Amino acid sequence: MKLRPVDFATEGVFVAGLAHSPKTLDETIAQAHAAAGRACTVLSQGVIMAEGIKSEVLKTRCIGCGLCVEVCQYNAIELDDKDDLAVVNSALCKGCGLCASTCRCGAITLKGFTEEEILAEVDALLC
Ligand code: SF4
Ligand code: SF4
Repeated sequence: MKLRPVDFATEGVFVAGLAHSPKTLDETIAQAHAAAGRACTVLSQGVIMAEGIKSEVLKTRCIGCGLCVEVCQYNAIELDDKDDLAVVNSALCKGCGLCASTCRCGAITLKGFTEEEILAEVDALLC
């Protein structure tokens, strides 16, 4: 709350005024200015660079149970309208890995943290 006070957890969403909490008109206007300023920092960029660590869904393993959708705090994963299988919005994904550890089907991997890569690191550490 003290850091980025008008930012939501979801990237690109900002809050101001009574949507945040009861406050005076002056406070509401000041917070609206802050939210508009934060939105401008996004809108003024021609290109937005995203982090490389993102989750991805192996659709052949997904059964569409929706557990990953429930646990994602950033609304970065949803069930596709066409096939009811999970799909990740890479622009919103923070790479926290919660969906990957929740999926009981092993359908989600985190780029840079596949099982093979983690086991290789453990092997290297033990050798
Ligand atoms: S938790 Fe796994 S199986 Fe369930 S919807 Fe998400 S990716 Fe698919
Ligand atoms: S890695 Fe984290 S932020 Fe990305 S989709 Fe999974 S739970 Fe959401």
